[in-house]
Amino acid sequence: MAKVHNWQLGREMEYTYGGAYPERQFAFVFNINRCIGCQTCTMACKSTWTFSKGQEHMWWANVETKPYGGYPQNWDVKILDKLNRANPGGQSWGGETSDDPQQPYGRFDGLTVFEADRALDPPSSRVLGYLPTDEEWNAPNIYEDNPLGKKGVRDKLDEEGVELPTHKTWFFYLARICNHCSYPACLAACPREAIYKRPEDGIVLIDQQQCRGYRKCVEACPYKKSMYRGNTRVSEKCIACYPRVEGTDPESDGRPMETRCMASCIGQIRLQGLVALNEDGTWKEDRQNPLYYLVHVARVALPLYPQLGTSPNGYYIPPRWVPKPYLNQMFGPGVDQAVENYLHPDRELLAVLQLYRRSNLIIYRYEIEEGPKIYEGKLHGRDVTLYNDTVVAFGHDGKEIFRTTIEDPLHVRSERHANSI
Ligand code: SF4
Ligand code: SF4
Repeated sequence: MAKVHNWQLGREMEYTYGGAYPERQFAFVFNINRCIGCQTCTMACKSTWTFSKGQEHMWWANVETKPYGGYPQNWDVKILDKLNRANPGGQSWGGETSDDPQQPYGRFDGLTVFEADRALDPPSSRVLGYLPTDEEWNAPNIYEDNPLGKKGVRDKLDEEGVELPTHKTWFFYLARICNHCSYPACLAACPREAIYKRPEDGIVLIDQQQCRGYRKCVEACPYKKSMYRGNTRVSEKCIACYPRVEGTDPESDGRPMETRCMASCIGQIRLQGLVALNEDGTWKEDRQNPLYYLVHVARVALPLYPQLGTSPNGYYIPPRWVPKPYLNQMFGPGVDQAVENYLHPDRELLAVLQLYRRSNLIIYRYEIEEGPKIYEGKLHGRDVTLYNDTVVAFGHDGKEIFRTTIEDPLHVRSERHANSI
């Protein structure tokens, strides 16, 4: 075991290997507030990568309904329960959230999946995990769209709390792919060293020649994003559509492009990019990169279950209508600030949120051109002024990809075409 710095936990932690960080890291920010659960992303991935025999149960990209749902079923409840059993009552955060990029969410004082395994006597393997059953893999989304009802009363929804900020009866859609973690549990657990993290973009891949199907990665990944294929007897996982990210897909014309699941998103919740890293794995200050801005400046986007310790590179803008205790266990101590900042967006945040899904090319930098005032009023009880600013997106070569405004353009149909479609 080596000691590595995990900035999401605000401390050093034990990991199987020493830290090795890519120049740029594949990362994404999903805005849960916008997801409509249409599953277009799920099918875009399925029809690209997992439509063959032996892959029937595989959903590299999936969307599950929280709090009830999960694919495989109950994946998060099961791993969190195992961690709690390994460290009863100790899975807590200390310290304060702050602007310090080394410790933005305070300090996690509990045990990660790597440390909890070491605490067992004797350690079971390299990572605390479990193998889901076939039934848990086989039935995604079963009975999922059921909101949490009135507590203790069967089939009854709570009639109070149907207004923001918090609903008493609630659910939300959680879209998930592999997080291409900075400390991948799948990689740590593989006895064949068949899993590797690419130095150019941090994408985590399984070498299909090297894998012998021991399923240690399936057991170890706390997000359950490594999957075993019975007919080839090897494991497979999300490959982050790497030909698109590399710009080698015929469609991308040499320019780095977002993955299929991102590009197909109907709700425009998905923004993916590549963030520059420092030598210790923290994010290099890159103020005009939209992902850096959302995570470290606006502080509206948080990692999914950071306490697991893999340093996931998937970030989420939490749903604003959901009770905080549920969000805290899922996204850590940054939730209050993230929801507050999202509910009261400043001028820059409002502009950056317009970057979502205007293009399939990866955005490296944005600029804002100030526009005229278009609205003055109240939002959630506070004074608000809106400006029709223009946000401009630039690609890897510094060239403009697109520009868009806060206000949607209004097109008035000419009289000649008034009655035509
Ligand atoms: S989410 Fe799971 S499969 Fe993906 S890199 Fe992290 S540990 Fe590995
Ligand atoms: S395509 Fe977008 S809106 Fe539809 S389920 Fe997927 S993430 Fe949600």
